[in-house]
Amino acid sequence: MSEPARILLAEDDRALRQSIAAALRGGSFAVDVVPDGIQATQRLREEPYDVVLLDIGLPFVDGWQILQEIEGRRQPSVIVISARGEERDKVRALDLGADDYLTKPFGADELIARLRAVLRRVRSTGNAGVARFGGVVVDLSNRSVTRDDEEVRLSPTEWVLLAELASHPGATRDHRTLLARVWGPAYVGDRNYLRTFVQRLRRKLEKDPANPVIIVTVGHQGYRFGPVTLPRDR
Ligand code: CA
Repeated sequence: MSEPARILLAEDDRALRQSIAAALRGGSFAVDVVPDGIQATQRLREEPYDVVLLDIGLPFVDGWQILQEIEGRRQPSVIVISARGEERDKVRALDLGADDYLTKPFGADELIARLRAVLRRVRSTGNAGVARFGGVVVDLSNRSVTRDDEEVRLSPTEWVLLAELASHPGATRDHRTLLARVWGPAYVGDRNYLRTFVQRLRRKLEKDPANPVIIVTVGHQGYRFGPVTLPRDR
C-alpha cells in the first residue's frame, strides 16, 4: 500500500468540518483541518499536502486569496467547496488554479470520488519522452516544462492536460477524450473545464495567446499540440 494521501480541509463551519473530516478519515485519507484562511495559508506553506479542500467563504483570508497564493504550484491540487453554485464562480475558481469545484451540499461519496479522481490524475501520467515546439519543451518523464529555456510553473491539472496533448504531438485530441482522461468519465460534457484550462496553458506557453500555435484549436473537435504531423508513407 502506498502512503495515504494528505488532505488539508479549510472550512469554517464546524459541523461541516467535522463531518467531512470523519468521512475522509473513513476513506483512508490523512486529514488536517483548519477553520480559517490564516491557518490555511500557514499550513500550506509548511506542509506538503496532496490536495486542499478549500471553502471560499473563510474568515480573515478568503478562498480566492488562497487560490492566488498557491497558483502555479505543482502541489497541492485544489478542490473548491462552496455554497456558491454559480457558473461564474466556478469558472473564476478554475481560472485561479482550482482543479475542481464542488457545490454544497454534497455527499461524502461524491467528495471522495472527486478526491480520488484528482489524485489519480496527478499520479497517473506515466508518459515518457520529450515533446517540443515553438520554444516550448515538455519533458514528460521529468514532468517539467520550459519556454525559451525558462521553467514554466503549472498546476497539477494544467500539467496533466498538457501531458495528454504533448504525448500525442501533431494529433487532434477530441474534447470528450481529453475531458475523460484529464478529469474523468463523468466530465465528458463539461467543456467549461477544458476551455478554461486551455486558456490558462496558452497564457503560460504561447507568445501570442490570441493566436495560439502550441495548443491549437481544431474546429469543433478538440485540440492539438503543435503543427499537424503528416502520416508517413508506408
Ligand atoms: Ca464558509
